[in-house]
Amino acid sequence: MKSIDKKVSDVRSKIRESQSRRFYMLRIIGCICGFLAISTTFYHLEVPVAYWLYAVIGCFMWPHIAYFMSIHSRDINNAEKRNCIIETFLGAVLLPMMSFNLLPGITLFAMFSMNNIGFSGVRFFLKGVVSFLFGILVMIPLTGTQVIFHTEYYIILSCIPALILYPQIVAFLAYALARDLNKTRETLEQQYRKLASANIKIRDQRDLLDNIAKIDSLTGIPNRRHFDGYLEKQWQSMLRSNSVVSVLMIDIDHFKEFNDNYGHGKGDECLKQVAETLSRSVKRPNDMLARYGGDEFICALPLTDIDGAKKIAEEMRKNVISLAIPHFHSSAADYVTISVGMAAIKPARSLSVSRLLKAADQALYMAKTNSRNCVEYLKSA
Ligand code: GH3
Ligand code: MG
Repeated sequence: MKSIDKKVSDVRSKIRESQSRRFYMLRIIGCICGFLAISTTFYHLEVPVAYWLYAVIGCFMWPHIAYFMSIHSRDINNAEKRNCIIETFLGAVLLPMMSFNLLPGITLFAMFSMNNIGFSGVRFFLKGVVSFLFGILVMIPLTGTQVIFHTEYYIILSCIPALILYPQIVAFLAYALARDLNKTRETLEQQYRKLASANIKIRDQRDLLDNIAKIDSLTGIPNRRHFDGYLEKQWQSMLRSNSVVSVLMIDIDHFKEFNDNYGHGKGDECLKQVAETLSRSVKRPNDMLARYGGDEFICALPLTDIDGAKKIAEEMRKNVISLAIPHFHSSAADYVTISVGMAAIKPARSLSVSRLLKAADQALYMAKTNSRNCVEYLKSA
């Protein structure tokens, strides 16, 4: 997370730097173009030295001061807006100094307007106009209101870079900005696609882990943890609908002997086959068969009474017999068999799931103490 934050802040500061540098270059070029037009006018009007000082210091110092203020600000956008308004004011001050000579005056106004409208739209342009007029009004008491409309030939020539070169540079910068934005958009889209596919992978992995946590690795059927949660939910649901839920506890007969005589590998194989066979009898969507541990399986049968449960239990028992897995060390038969204990309960607030499980366990115990290879249930459950 920290490294992402760092990357974002790196990209941000790179964008800030490159933006500030562009404005810096634009200002230097603008000031040189502007100075050409101003200096020929000043020369023609033979203005006082103070005017020259103002123009020279303004044109050659301002870009550096503006750049300094921009890179040291927290919000480069605001800093540049402030710079635009200041330079519009400082530039407007020159108009009365140039006796409102028409072409250089219009040239300066056009340059500042181009900057302002290009930087932040029409509203900002209007702010610039106010700043421009303010600059003129501030200066008039010092310079007077002498107006010279006639523009000498060499002054016209000196305005050409500001009128032709400068707009082209502004247009190029606008194009470069649009190109950069396009690149940034493409990069963002790429990153978004990567993130989306990473998200899908993470979701798949999470689902896989969820499933692994719910499934018994040997038999591939739900494990005890998953079953307990499921039965609890079904219990609540049956409580609401006032319906019966049955549970079957299934245990392989003399499985210890099977393991001891045929080996653990064969034992595992037998568990898999039995699990698969039992699953075949679990048909309704809300029924669930799980491995409860060792050679013991459990089956939840919501909306099923004891008669229905008995049918399923008998079917399971017969199906396991028909697997005909040899087990000559069992007292019940010459092949693998199961014993099943059943219980059915209509859930009530005074009862809990453990009551149902206990009843099924007791029934299984009965089956084991009888002959095994049989189905038993507790009538009192
Ligand atoms: P009963 O008829 O009374 O159920 O006798 P049993 O021998 O089946 O009863 P018990 O619970 O004593 O034995 C269960 C055996 O199941 C013990 C253990 O060797 C075996 N077992 C438990 N888990 C596994 C397993 O994952 N793989 C294999 N191969 N055997 C297992
Ligand atoms: Mg057993």
